[in-house]
Amino acid sequence: MYTYEALPVAEWFRRNRELAGFQNPARALYQTVRELVENSLDATETHGILPTIYIKLTVEDEAKSWVSVYIEDNGIGIPGNEIPNVFGRVFYSSKYKIKQHRGVFGLGLKMVVLYAQNTTNRPVAVRSAKVKSKSIYEYQIMIDTNNNSPIVLYSREYPNKYEWHGTAIKVYLEGNWHNAKKRIEEYLKRTAIIAPYAEIIFKGPDMELWLKRRTTKLPPAPKEGLPHPRSIDVDTFKQMAVENVGKTLLEFLVENFDRVGDSIARAFLEWAGFNPKTKVTALTQEEVAKLVERMRQYDKWMRPSSDWLSPVGPELLEIGTKAILGAEVVFATSRKPESYGGHPFVVEVAVAWGGEIPPSDKPILLRYANKIPLLYDEGADVARKIVDEFNWQNYKIKFPAPLAVIVHLCSTKVPYASAGKEAIAEVVEIEKEIKLGIRDAAKKLRLYLSRKEREMEMLKKYTSLAKYVDEVSYNLSIVSGIDREKLSKSLHELIEKKLGITVEELVKHTLAQESESYLKI
Ligand code: ADP
Ligand code: MG
Repeated sequence: MYTYEALPVAEWFRRNRELAGFQNPARALYQTVRELVENSLDATETHGILPTIYIKLTVEDEAKSWVSVYIEDNGIGIPGNEIPNVFGRVFYSSKYKIKQHRGVFGLGLKMVVLYAQNTTNRPVAVRSAKVKSKSIYEYQIMIDTNNNSPIVLYSREYPNKYEWHGTAIKVYLEGNWHNAKKRIEEYLKRTAIIAPYAEIIFKGPDMELWLKRRTTKLPPAPKEGLPHPRSIDVDTFKQMAVENVGKTLLEFLVENFDRVGDSIARAFLEWAGFNPKTKVTALTQEEVAKLVERMRQYDKWMRPSSDWLSPVGPELLEIGTKAILGAEVVFATSRKPESYGGHPFVVEVAVAWGGEIPPSDKPILLRYANKIPLLYDEGADVARKIVDEFNWQNYKIKFPAPLAVIVHLCSTKVPYASAGKEAIAEVVEIEKEIKLGIRDAAKKLRLYLSRKEREMEMLKKYTSLAKYVDEVSYNLSIVSGIDREKLSKSLHELIEKKLGITVEELVKHTLAQESESYLKI
């Protein structure tokens, strides 16, 4: 005899926490920090606030591996009445919008709370105030997994005397600090590369990081978008139709979709065999299916708008990469917006060379999706494949070389290779852009390396010629009676003229020569 039952959603996630990255105490601790930091960044930079994030991690009970994580940000805060649901209801989010942000599922915080209560049976503690809020709200919350709802154990509201805004969270969980330490450090540093406008302070048991703000420039905030007609599915279409009772197909398309104007909509409907005056709610099931299929097939839609995206831009990428990797030189590029399946995306690439980057047999790869550093599953990522197949020889690079490649994909829908959200899947359009991005940046690096190589040769030539200047000017001055210093100066000038560069410039350009041996000469 079978018995059937429905598993409540929160209970399902409690049982399958490994799918969200909470499979063991080390990974869970890393994931906790990551989810909290990402929420803090979303609550600040996407709203025009320069992020300041403070994190304190404490080993509370060594024997039981209990750790606490405290995080505080200066973000927009959470409305008092929303706090219980935001922390205690799986799939509750303010980010179910067509717009680039780090959060996507409305799950991260809840996984943290579920994992914490499961391992230590302690609630999450929250303090939050919205910008300009008269009150500060405090809560202690657990999750009732059978009902997917919050259990509020404690709450209070008190005056916000100092106009504080932001969110502070404390959780107790089972965590393995020793094993998570390196990953957390790596994660925070990589975050500082892609978000050099953030100030991140981390205090752990035996590790302190102060990642300073390197610039006060924020990337332009993304706007909230409309779906592109090519990205639509039948269910979404039906939901939208219900919200547009009384509208004709023509009105429906023009008002609800990205970059669909009157003439494009008319042309499409004619091509698809639909009357523009038909009411959208009058379509039969079959007609909806056919229309949606046609919308996905039509190849004359405008390319999706990229206003919903928030790429970092080459300038910020160069600042962050140079500061954190300590590279001799960084070249970055932001490709023009492209799209796949109706989703806009932008690929950004930076190549960093020399300085403190250790030489290795293949490029060090730093991957990002919507400004989130991806640390796991590198082998499954399309960017790794492309970087490995790239013909670096053509760009004057011979391995081992001190080379790091940064690949950033921004999209309203990142095609992750798995539910763990750690690798980007192979999508032809994206693959192409990554390749072109690497090529753009590598070209600039090649130019730099060639110039450096040339200057090195000139310096060598100069040195070998300059050796004779003293002797020649000495003898010449005896013969001609002209002042020796004068002669020596003219001879130096002669050599400089011949080389086409002053000695001063030569020396300046070739100061950083440690990476010379990696040049393909
Ligand atoms: P997601 O980030 O995918 O939306 P989460 O469960 O991580 O899902 O967060 C749920 C919601 O809680 C977010 O959409 C956001 O509105 C709110 N939130 C979480 N953390 C913060 C924070 N630090 N500041 C402001 N709002 C927050
Ligand atoms: Mg989140």
